[in-house]
Amino acid sequence: MSPLEADLQANLNDIRSRIAQACQAAGRDLREVELLPVSKFQSLEAIRAAKALGLTRFGENYVQEGTAKALAFPDLEFVIHGPLQRNKAKPALQHFHEIMCVDRLDLALRLARLAQEMELTRPTWIQVDLWGEATKMGGCPLPELPALIETLSAGSHLPLQGFMAIPPPGSSRAFTQLAYLRGDWQQRLGKKLRLSMGMSDDLEAAIAAGTDQLRIGSALFGARSTAQ
Ligand SMILES: *Cc1c(COP(=O)(O)O)cnc(C)c1O
Repeated sequence: MSPLEADLQANLNDIRSRIAQACQAAGRDLREVELLPVSKFQSLEAIRAAKALGLTRFGENYVQEGTAKALAFPDLEFVIHGPLQRNKAKPALQHFHEIMCVDRLDLALRLARLAQEMELTRPTWIQVDLWGEATKMGGCPLPELPALIETLSAGSHLPLQGFMAIPPPGSSRAFTQLAYLRGDWQQRLGKKLRLSMGMSDDLEAAIAAGTDQLRIGSALFGARSTAQ
C-alpha cells in the first residue's frame, strides 16, 4: 500500500467509525447511510488511491475539473453537486452519472430538454436553500420548489432522487428542517425521496436527523489546495 493509500485508509477508517457511532446513537442501520467521497480539487493520484481502497463513486463541484477525472477513470462514477451553470448543462449530462444541484427552473428545463435529445437518463436531485442568503451556495428557495419538482416530474429523463443541501455550518436545526421537508414531499408525491446532507464537520448531526447520504471531502482526502 502506498503512503497515500495508507493515509486515505486511516481517514476512511476514522470516518466509518464516526458514522457507525452516530448510527448507533441514532438507532439507525449503518447500511442506510451512503458515504459519497467529494474529490473536488483532489489530484488524479488521490482518486487512484481512493479507487484502490474500493471507492467507486465521487462527487465533484466543477464540470471542467470533474470531466477530466471522469475521462481519466472511465470505470468510476462521478456525480456533480455544482454550482452548475446553464451553459454547462450538456457536458454535465454527458460526463456525470447524477446531477445533484438542480436549483432553478431554467436549469431544470434545459437539462430536461438536453437529456431528452441526448436520450440519457440521469438521476437528479434538487438542491434546496431554506436559509435565504445565509449560505450563498445556490439552492432553490422554498417558494420555487413546487414548480421545480413539477418540472422534473413531468419528464422521465431526470428521475427525482431527493433533496441535497448545504446548510449553514453548525446548524443542526437546519438538518431537522430538511428532514421535515423531505417527509412532507414524500407524502405529497407518494414516493421515497433521499436526503443528501452532512459533510466532514457535521456528519453526526446529519445522521441523527435522518440523512441518506453524506458528502465527505476534507475528512477523507485532507485539506484541499485552493490553488485551482
Ligand atoms: C466541498 C463540498 C463537500 C465536502 O465538504 P467537506 O467539508 O470537505 O467534507 C460536500 N458537498 C459540497 C456541495 C461541497 O461543495
